[in-house]
Amino acid sequence: MMRIEKIKNILMDARNNVPFYAGIIPEHMDALTNDEIVHSFSQIPPTDKDNIREDYSKFVSKHICGELVKRAEYERRIGREEHSQIDNCEYVFEYTSGSSGTPFVTVKTLNERFLLAKALWSARNNLISIRATEAFNCNNPSSPLVNIENLIKNDYDMWMVNVNRLETIKKYCEINDTRLSKLKLIENAGSFITVEEQFAYEKFFNCIVSNYYGCTETWGIAYSCKNKNLHIMEDSVYVELLDENDNVIEENGRVGTVTVTSYILRQMPFIRYKTGDLAYYMPEKCECSNLRKVIRLVPNRNMILGTNLYGNNYFRGVLLKLIAEYKINKFKNISIMQTGLKTFDVNVTGCLVDKAALESGFNMAAKTVFQRDDYEFFFHYGQETVGKNIFTLSPYLLKRGSYPWKN
Ligand SMILES: [Zn+2]
Repeated sequence: MMRIEKIKNILMDARNNVPFYAGIIPEHMDALTNDEIVHSFSQIPPTDKDNIREDYSKFVSKHICGELVKRAEYERRIGREEHSQIDNCEYVFEYTSGSSGTPFVTVKTLNERFLLAKALWSARNNLISIRATEAFNCNNPSSPLVNIENLIKNDYDMWMVNVNRLETIKKYCEINDTRLSKLKLIENAGSFITVEEQFAYEKFFNCIVSNYYGCTETWGIAYSCKNKNLHIMEDSVYVELLDENDNVIEENGRVGTVTVTSYILRQMPFIRYKTGDLAYYMPEKCECSNLRKVIRLVPNRNMILGTNLYGNNYFRGVLLKLIAEYKINKFKNISIMQTGLKTFDVNVTGCLVDKAALESGFNMAAKTVFQRDDYEFFFHYGQETVGKNIFTLSPYLLKRGSYPWKN
């Protein structure tokens, strides 16, 4: 459901401060009826990362534009944040991954981040009450998580973690017969996880496993309930699903691109921003008390089409072989999307090795792992993956020697 008053304020602000919207949003928004506001909103052209990167200055408030454009020109580490005091206001610049290895930079005020964090904590606290000081972000690249012993010794109430790292921790716990007594909540963030996987991890770790879906640009978009359904965080975002012609999808079950409008962000507003993730509205009603719409991210199956093999496990095997046996490890990330019964897109980011060597190594590893040679892999370099992929692996953890299941 659209919060009309919030949309109106966001649009008025964007019109006055952000060049791209100056000519698009009507001048006297406050004189419009609710229907007219909804109509004006629907006329705003959706944007995506590429549009914004083409000319940041059009998409950022004039107060912070110069500073942001300056930062966009320098190579910054993905996942990094920089705080900066400008005109008595504290801004935080966040760097996320972008195509061709160029980071994408976004900016938020400290207050905007506070409001986003508050929305996220309220979603978590719907499941279980946790104090922020008892939570640990295992996804932070500079965190000492790689030292799993430390993580376990510190006995947190909550971990924010992605599936790859969680799997590593699980293997460690299995090998060392470790039990975590205090852990109450494991929150999957930043990777695709199935409902079945969530229940399986719950059983193993004996705590609640939740799924947080969001992006660096807008933070929280949806959060799972006790039934593992992703409810849209309707107090802080308005979500639309758009088809390939950018028409709004209303019906349940039809897949479209998750397109998000933040009610909170003003300095760098995200209005009808296409995340690139694919989802559909769940046809059945969730039986929990949360009445907000439920989306299902796609692919919501982790079996390889036409087989009963779990893509996660098998592609993990392929990538580990590539790294361990063929010694090809100088890439940042590989993600795989199935495009047909026997065809896959392999998206490689941050590739610093010979592409032919990587491709032949990957093909050989896949042949061994799948025991078949009719799978075709199409390699793309430096591209963003559309949708939550079947599987991604970063050699980052391997380099630190922390994978207990190296072969
Ligand atoms: Zn629910």
